[in-house]
Amino acid sequence: MKGWIRRREATCAEVAQVLQRYLDGQVDDLTARRVRRHLDHCRRCGLELETYQAIKVALARRGERVDPEAVERLRAFGERLAERGLGEDSGSSA
Ligand SMILES: [Zn+2]
Repeated sequence: MKGWIRRREATCAEVAQVLQRYLDGQVDDLTARRVRRHLDHCRRCGLELETYQAIKVALARRGERVDPEAVERLRAFGERLAERGLGEDSGSSA
């Protein structure tokens, strides 16, 4: 469910809670936006994100053969989320 962040800046703790899901693309657009905004000015969480990404890549490598394209796609996913702009807070009043 959404709602862990309301109309305020996310805290480091909140970002940490959803960071993995954020990387997996399992958070809604609004949450992704909050995370992204926080990462924008919080170097610490940015490093955390990089760590998670590195872990994901490492895990993928350890498994079966992984299409490098898939890894790259995964890595680019978060960036795409940010660049897309994500419109406004759609569906916030429904
Ligand atoms: Zn932070």
